[in-house]
Amino acid sequence: MSVPQAEAIIDLDAVRANTERLAAGTSAQVMAVVKADGYGHGMVPTARAALAGGATWLGACTVPEALALRAAGITAPVFAWLIAPGQVLAGAVGADIDLSAATVAGLDEVAAAARETGLTARVHLKVDTGLGRNGATVADWPDLLAAARRHVAEGTVDVVGVWSHFARADEVGHPANARQLAVFTEALATAESAGIRPELRHMANSPATLTLPGAHFDLVRPGIALYGLSPIAGDTFGLRPAMTLRASLVNAKRVPAGQGVSYGHTYTTERETTLVLVPLGYADGIPRAASSRGPVLVGGRRRVIVGRVCMDQVVVDVGDDDVRAGDDAVLFGPGDDGEPTVDDWAEVLDTINYEIVTRVGARVPRTYRGDGR
Ligand SMILES: *Cc1c(COP(=O)(O)O)cnc(C)c1O
Repeated sequence: MSVPQAEAIIDLDAVRANTERLAAGTSAQVMAVVKADGYGHGMVPTARAALAGGATWLGACTVPEALALRAAGITAPVFAWLIAPGQVLAGAVGADIDLSAATVAGLDEVAAAARETGLTARVHLKVDTGLGRNGATVADWPDLLAAARRHVAEGTVDVVGVWSHFARADEVGHPANARQLAVFTEALATAESAGIRPELRHMANSPATLTLPGAHFDLVRPGIALYGLSPIAGDTFGLRPAMTLRASLVNAKRVPAGQGVSYGHTYTTERETTLVLVPLGYADGIPRAASSRGPVLVGGRRRVIVGRVCMDQVVVDVGDDDVRAGDDAVLFGPGDDGEPTVDDWAEVLDTINYEIVTRVGARVPRTYRGDGR
């Protein structure tokens, strides 16, 4: 069997084990967040592995993502929360997707879709407890609750959940976290006095799932941790990275001193050396900012990309080492064999591990290892 010339190898057993690790640390249900194609790992296979590891819910962000889970035959509860006005929601209600509402207008649209289908829509009301992103402000919360009450009375809507999202849960002990928790508790009390007692209260992302048990409530919503990446620098929490990005070298050649390398010749060889070609570029999610920076394991040693990252390829200078076309280049992985990690890439590029894995391009095939079961 031939090896793909470039691939993201996804360790489904790691996804399952990471989910088990998170589930073991809470008495709440686990919603595995598989948005953005499972943070680049492939939405459906990682969803199945997370379910095998004890997740009972899936978080999908958008309605099309949620519907793709259903189309794959997944019957577990699915929640979608980022919905612009005017989206067609009848299909989601018909497919038993739980929907978020953060405004009266948004809730009215969900109720209209329910009326259209003759079903009752399952809704989670979102309150902004301090992130300043989506969610009803505390000032608008009573109006949203009142609208929900009307729709519940009509039978179009069932308020299943009340939820929120943290701004700084990755900063353990930051006072903003306690403040958000207090606002959430207050919002729940307001809901209760308005006659709304949701069975699912939820606000914990990965860092809160790992470090803030007081925020677990009935359900936690980890994303990045499922994929084995830590949301908090300096602590792995025993998680195992699930993605390895590798490629087969397309070319290896001796060049003389003074050879300019890649567009703009930002690198020039100082002496005779071997240049090797890795068939991955910015179209595959290797940021162009990784030019002269991105770490790669080639020929058993860690090296750095030389010259500019191109759309489809990057060059590495391996000196006099015996490296040949067809040999492996590993851009990142769990680190077992000395390869760089996603965290190494994030550090070099001054970004977060989330961005490195989610941007791996559609051209890179995902190859699955382990069965996640
Ligand atoms: C992405 C997302 C999560 C998961 O966040 P992580 O930091 O990856 O755990 C949870 N909830 C919401 C609303 C999100 O958008």
